[in-house]
Amino acid sequence: MRAFTHNALPGRVVFGAGSLAKLSEEIERLGARRALVLCTPQQREQAQDVAARLGTRCAGIFDQAVMHVPIETARAARAEARRLDADCAVAVGGGSTTGLGKAIALESSLPILAIPTTYAGSEMTPIYGITEDGLKKTGRDARVLPRTVIYDPTLTLGLPTGLSATSGMNAIAHAVEALYAEDANPISSMLAAEGIRALRQGLPRVVAEPLDLEGRSRCLYGAWLCGAVLGSVGMALHHKLCHTLGGSFNLPHAETHTVVLPHAVAYNRAAAPEAMKLAAAALDAEDAARALYALARELGAPLALKDIGMRESDLDRAAEIATKSPYYNPRPVEYGAIRKLLDDAYHGREPA
Ligand code: NAD
Repeated sequence: MRAFTHNALPGRVVFGAGSLAKLSEEIERLGARRALVLCTPQQREQAQDVAARLGTRCAGIFDQAVMHVPIETARAARAEARRLDADCAVAVGGGSTTGLGKAIALESSLPILAIPTTYAGSEMTPIYGITEDGLKKTGRDARVLPRTVIYDPTLTLGLPTGLSATSGMNAIAHAVEALYAEDANPISSMLAAEGIRALRQGLPRVVAEPLDLEGRSRCLYGAWLCGAVLGSVGMALHHKLCHTLGGSFNLPHAETHTVVLPHAVAYNRAAAPEAMKLAAAALDAEDAARALYALARELGAPLALKDIGMRESDLDRAAEIATKSPYYNPRPVEYGAIRKLLDDAYHGREPA
């Protein structure tokens, strides 16, 4: 067996249907007395329920979380935390809300208790992102890793099926890239494969029956594991492409991951045979790229960049940006091949 290093991240996870009932206990455990609850305007109702459960330990609600954490929103949330003398941030929502909690923690070291309601996985990572002047800057900092995560699948029952499908594919993308990461190791690969397997089983159930609690539980469990590997090993071509398409061409986050993933996997297929074998086994298929394309189709998710707002005339520039600076990928990242990958993704062709 070859030698390896595994970077396990700290954090307490409370998982299960109805586990939100343990919120007061968990807040007490953190020693917090004045929690600021964060949410998007759309999830105000869920945040109010969380605030009611916190009772006198709730200092207030900040309901302005939006995608990609604009610096103005981060500043407003930080000011509100200071004004209320908050000693903890409780983020109830998806990656955008968790991201806002991270922006507060980055400045103040306030502990975060995350209550995820999508499958994005941000709650398991020390990665933060803040958008300033149209540019999203990302970084890693141990202070932004949530101290406690409550995964309650009942909170995801209302996640629309379209968003469930793309958010789940986004989670699978973390795990697939973790399998061929430069610093992949047996532990991260075990978590990644189990995460893919759980989502492969759960997502079709959720799309067929959004109120299927067992299906929802499988998906949230899978999302946790996929987030954990995103936090512990490095990503590669797929995440770089999605960052480029989201950042420079304003494409929607989870949909972009869904469309690009089968093509990024096909690109890396021959260069990472062991990882591909593990991914295919977790997907219960012969070939990972084709299985991911088939899964997206089965879920009724978008398959082509042209259907989610990409312009064909921008493909050259996207390929240039994605190949400009060097980064790790199992197969060398070359302009011509990446331009071809983007063309396939643009038209939504099935990987060969
Ligand atoms: P999101 O948080 O933007 O949520 C999308 C929409 O769905 C929002 O309107 C939200 O209020 C709503 N929603 C969320 N849960 C719901 C539920 N259960 N029922 C009904 N509506 C619900 O989307 P996301 O995909 O979770 O997060 C995307 C963002 O997270 C991106 O900015 C991405 O870059 C970031 N992200 C960061 C990391 C990290 O490690 N830092 C990891 C993954 C994603």
